Amino acid sequence: MQIARLSDLADKTACPRLVVKVGSSLLVGKEGARRAWLEGLVAEIAAARARGQDVIVVSSGAIALGAAKLGLDKGGRGSLADAQAAAAVGQIALSGLWAELLGAHGLTAAQLLLTLEDLEDRRRYLNATATLTRLLDAGAVPVINENDSVATQEIRFGDNDRLAARVAQAARASAVLLLSDVDGLFDRNPREPGAQLLPVVHGVTAEVRAMATGESASGMGSGGMTSKLQAAEIAELAGIALVIANGTAEAPVARVVEQGIGTLFVPRRRARARKAWLGGRLRLKGSLVVDAGAARALAGGSSLLAAGIVAVEGTFARGDAVAIRDGAGTVLANGLCEYDAAECAAILGRQSGDHAALLGYAPRPAVVHRDQLVLL
Ligand code: GLU
Repeated sequence: MQIARLSDLADKTACPRLVVKVGSSLLVGKEGARRAWLEGLVAEIAAARARGQDVIVVSSGAIALGAAKLGLDKGGRGSLADAQAAAAVGQIALSGLWAELLGAHGLTAAQLLLTLEDLEDRRRYLNATATLTRLLDAGAVPVINENDSVATQEIRFGDNDRLAARVAQAARASAVLLLSDVDGLFDRNPREPGAQLLPVVHGVTAEVRAMATGESASGMGSGGMTSKLQAAEIAELAGIALVIANGTAEAPVARVVEQGIGTLFVPRRRARARKAWLGGRLRLKGSLVVDAGAARALAGGSSLLAAGIVAVEGTFARGDAVAIRDGAGTVLANGLCEYDAAECAAILGRQSGDHAALLGYAPRPAVVHRDQLVLL
């Protein structure tokens, strides 16, 4: 059974496992942590658990909380060093608070701090899956954040929206609920008169992306609508529903489930687990630009051959993940490349039969095999 409406988030058959992502602006106010509000949300999490649903929390707020404690300006986001220091201070307080409030309902909190690499590397991704599964089986509530104190700019998710979608994928969750300070996706900038909230979105298309504004409304988190849509794309490909909703109300989950206020992104298809992981990868080492014939062949389910490649970008080794895009810049697929970047450059535009002469060793016929690529 798939999630078709917002009320399904509270249905244990449609949604046996839910990821709830809580944005910084909800958790942290001018006076520090918003304890009373969090007590309300934790009561709703406890109710979901009592209904028989597994719940995983992805909690932001470490940087905002730590910045307040250390007296750092720009909410601790003035520099990477500030953000790392703020996160180190804020994370202790944040996990302590979650543990205490969940504990009051007899629930055990379990902290996981993840970096991008933990979910991009296949072995580490499966490792995270095993840990999450074990924790849920043991009855704990995982409370997850990015490991901001050690993550440098290059190896950061940077926003917990995409982290939540990747965690949902790793934990094989049915849905992700992104709670922030916006009601959902509007058909234009919500500040413009006549802007309409979209209740359901079928597929994150170019038209849908054009509706998003980049900045975070509160200026406190790093997300904004752009990163929420990226999260929706990751979820969609993995067959996971995603909801964007406003968490500022007293009982935010009830507002979504009972009043139906929010935007539901229905999953388009369920890619096989490994392909979904590949499609959700955020760091690609380079790209292969293909001609129209190759683009058509890919859409029809074929492998990518050197003959259809017109340019190679970036530096990558054999087995690295690359983007496959058309001349206009639209990314068509992600895939694992059978050749390194220099070899791709040497064989592009050539027939498979020429590879041995060009490279000096027995070739693989495809540059990206159909089993190793996922169409986007
Ligand atoms: N990991 C960041 C924090 O805990 C939040 C990232 C975001 O704003 O999404 O403060």
